[in-house]
Amino acid sequence: MSIFSKIISGEIPAHKVAETEDYLAFLDINPLREGHVLVIPKNEIDYIFNMEDANYAGLMIFAKVVAKAIKKAVPCTKIGVAVIGLEVPHVHIHLIPMDNVDDMNF
Ligand code: 5GP
Repeated sequence: MSIFSKIISGEIPAHKVAETEDYLAFLDINPLREGHVLVIPKNEIDYIFNMEDANYAGLMIFAKVVAKAIKKAVPCTKIGVAVIGLEVPHVHIHLIPMDNVDDMNF
């Protein structure tokens, strides 16, 4: 079971910011900036391009809603969107408040 599945089940605590039946958004434990959120599907899939189309579309629509909420809550120029996946093999989209390219200092 991935560490993110343990967050979904409640086994590992996380600061949840939004949730639907199929998707969850929570604060990154090691944020690049305040308001750095991870958006995940509740079904555990290792790689974003292995997702079923409907699930992939639903995840992106959920991410858009969450990004708009972050933009309202955190002063920033825009919300950066990144898919890295080097550390956790459970699909996740990084939503990161940004003002310039230096903020994306992975
Ligand atoms: P990636 O897999 O995209 O390279 O990075 C995984 C991201 O998940 C990192 O930004 C890391 O800080 C975050 N992360 C890893 N473990 C946890 C955790 O247990 N809780 C939370 N909230 N974030 C985590």
